[in-house]
Amino acid sequence: MKDQTRIIHSVPVDELTGAVSVPIYQTSTYVQEAPGVNKGYDYARSNNPTRKALEDIIAGLESGAAGYAFASGLAAIDAVVKLLNAGDEILAVDDIYGGAFRLFTHIYEKFGIRVTYVDSTDAANVAAALTPRTRLIWLESPTNPTLKISDIRVIADIAKANGILLCVDNTFASPVSQKPLELGADIVVHSATKYLAGHSDLIAGLVVTRTQELGDRIKFIQNASGAILAPFDSWLVIRGIETLALRVKQHSENAQQLAGFLASCELVRNVYYPGLPNHVNHHIARKQQKFSGGVISFDLHADSEELAVKIVSSTRYFKLAESLGGVKSLICHPATMTHKSIPREKRYAAGVTDSLIRLSVGLEDAEDLLADLQEVFESVRKEQAAIAG
Ligand SMILES: *Cc1c(COP(=O)(O)O)cnc(C)c1O
Repeated sequence: MKDQTRIIHSVPVDELTGAVSVPIYQTSTYVQEAPGVNKGYDYARSNNPTRKALEDIIAGLESGAAGYAFASGLAAIDAVVKLLNAGDEILAVDDIYGGAFRLFTHIYEKFGIRVTYVDSTDAANVAAALTPRTRLIWLESPTNPTLKISDIRVIADIAKANGILLCVDNTFASPVSQKPLELGADIVVHSATKYLAGHSDLIAGLVVTRTQELGDRIKFIQNASGAILAPFDSWLVIRGIETLALRVKQHSENAQQLAGFLASCELVRNVYYPGLPNHVNHHIARKQQKFSGGVISFDLHADSEELAVKIVSSTRYFKLAESLGGVKSLICHPATMTHKSIPREKRYAAGVTDSLIRLSVGLEDAEDLLADLQEVFESVRKEQAAIAG
């Protein structure tokens, strides 16, 4: 069964009424026949049928044993870290999502969990950085915003050989493009806020585990800590997932066209897009991703913050906003927005220069998106020519 068929037929038909859309069970508790005798549902933090439908759908889509839905991507990440004990160490990709970095450093370090960061695009760095206390390897692939890619299968083998859990944040790729559990990872997390929900209308997170045993531990943490996803938001994520395969394909086709255009632009210095043959990790992307995704970053020859800010403020269809993965195209300037709190040298080391611009390519017609960028670049070129002349 292919993904689109699997997705559509993993959304269950309601047994009670035959409703083809999953009912929203907006309830906090359930009547019991006798104390402790119930229909599998006793209190809605522990179990909710709408959330359960979403959890089963994402488990199937990621080829996992069990899935769990959380109030945000960060709550999902938080649940995975809670598998660890004081004294344990996490080895994480150095280009990690800023919110995960903040959680690891400012919350978990004070509870005695140490985190070290490596450039995991070379798997040898991962093997070399392990210590006897490493319990969890944390990957993101592709990363944000320069779309670095790590070889999940090779790193999964390293993790397995050392008895260490491997968790992959699969937000940027989505499960229709990349299935980390099939490549040997133990856990997948998502910010479902992005491609899975797909319409920029909610915040949600998901965890999928390879084994039921790990799933039971996540379930315990989900119930004990309580950061569950609400029934209506669960329903919206299900509705988003129904069109995921179509959307990711179109996001990728649109982005591939724009990346080609950007690579040919005089103004542009570097284009970061895994679908371009000159992307540093293009060969790994080809091996483990079906699609190259909808996020592109690029910077400018004149490494000017002023010029970058002018560009992100001038586009018509690309709306200036953080986040990604929605139907509407977005543009942002990481140096003054998402990566503002990172010191300049550290930012530059990660490729986040003053002129770096990130696009989340949406589902508008590619011709219109292309024209939008062409018009802005042309007006910048004319302005520069006028200044020079
Ligand atoms: C957005 C994002 C998160 C955090 O998810 P929220 O839903 O905003 O809490 C985690 N990882 C990646 C890669 C993200 O892009």
